[in-house]
Amino acid sequence: MESAQELLDAGFSKTKTAEMIGVHHSKICRLVDIGELEIYLPFDDGDDKHQSKDLYEWLWEEDELEALLWKGYDEGKVDINAVLGERYYSVGRYVQNNYKNFHLFLAQKGFLPLEDNFFKTCSTCGESKQLKNFSKRKGEFVFGLEPQCNRCVEGRVRNNLINNESYKDRCKVVGKKWRDRNKDKLYVYGHIRRARESNLLNDLTTEQLEITKLSFSGCALTGDKTYHMDHVIPLAIGHGGTTYGNMIPLRSDLNISKHCNNIFEWFEANRQRFELSQERFDTLIDWLASANAMTVKEYREYVYWCHANPCDVNDKGVI
Ligand SMILES: [Zn+2]
Repeated sequence: MESAQELLDAGFSKTKTAEMIGVHHSKICRLVDIGELEIYLPFDDGDDKHQSKDLYEWLWEEDELEALLWKGYDEGKVDINAVLGERYYSVGRYVQNNYKNFHLFLAQKGFLPLEDNFFKTCSTCGESKQLKNFSKRKGEFVFGLEPQCNRCVEGRVRNNLINNESYKDRCKVVGKKWRDRNKDKLYVYGHIRRARESNLLNDLTTEQLEITKLSFSGCALTGDKTYHMDHVIPLAIGHGGTTYGNMIPLRSDLNISKHCNNIFEWFEANRQRFELSQERFDTLIDWLASANAMTVKEYREYVYWCHANPCDVNDKGVI
């Protein structure tokens, strides 16, 4: 116990004293609180005053900081990590507690115009950088500054997101939920995007898509409730587009089988294989013709003409 009191008398702080005699600093604090240990006031007016403030420590930090300021003034560039060495953390904590951060400390001392003279070493890349490269932080941050430079923080945030499996999974789940809720929009958006890429018309609205679906109540050829929206005149031949009258619901296997083929030829070649009904097909062609303001004959000729005259999908002015 005597040695602790000796250290305190010699001007060591409670924390430093605890460290030097190898006990937890709360033990020293408690002993000071109950009066077992005493902290001597250095500037007394003759009386032996005792008080429980760490006045020596206060002087110590201020002295070190003052030296740092003048070093910055004289040398033009000082790295606060390099200058303070292992005192970096205690001085840093002092600044954080008393001035919030190093910038405010400089401001209070009238050294703000020399701000660019002060450098700090990034804990990640190890580069010595001007203080403006470190974000101001509240709470338990020495000197009130982020230990990593802004560039390293950005990299860390990015890598965390990239490597964070739960973040990726969450994106997938949210993405899937959104897609499930907005399937109609996605049909329209996806097709509009593809049509736009090939300079084709792409004016199908969600309302028109709704009308199209209601016209068939399921796949246009089978009535199946699961279907894809198919371009009757395929985008790949440079005609048609994502427009009302060129989009029909088709069961996915039919959609895949039809692909870039002429719908009339494809139907003739595949009706038996897929056991398709001629009546449904005729109804579909009636609907397509009227949606395109044509007679069935005109529509048929139009489809054949499109397939006979494919154009580069990147050409402008397609029909
Ligand atoms: Zn860095």
